[in-house]
Amino acid sequence: PPDVEKLGRATWTFLHTTAAYYPERPTPNQRANMLMLLRSLPILYPCSHCASHLDENMKTSPPDVSGRLGLSRWLCERHNEVNERLGKGKFDCGIKSLDERWKDGPSD
Ligand code: FAD
Repeated sequence: PPDVEKLGRATWTFLHTTAAYYPERPTPNQRANMLMLLRSLPILYPCSHCASHLDENMKTSPPDVSGRLGLSRWLCERHNEVNERLGKGKFDCGIKSLDERWKDGPSD
């Protein structure tokens, strides 16, 4: 089975970076595809307990694919729910902190 921590870091990097560069005003096609990408995760993510937590989480908080601000915040909040469950600190979900980490600042 995959290393859940390594997989998690790689997946969050992909998701937060994709959200950071998602258009402010996405086309209907871009919105539909983002929604499909996110809805695929609870079905395909190769950590089954992670996937089922995410499924529950997404039922309470449906994805916001309206634009990069809403999407970035939505994703940050979902990530914070995992952080909380794992006893980690919460990340500041303001767009300034998110852009500094995932768009403008140095990446890892
Ligand atoms: P990560 O949590 O991987 O974070 C990487 C970097 O993202 C951090 O260093 C920080 O700079 C930044 N960051 C942190 N929080 C936020 C935020 N809220 N918004 C934006 N950026 C942020 N692991 C489990 O053990 N159990 C689970 O149920 C579980 N569910 C998961 C569900 C999903 C959808 C994903 C993608 C991962 C899940 N993981 C789960 C993995 C877990 O979230 C971490 O990726 C893993 O524990 C490694 O943690 P880390 O401390 O290296 O940093």
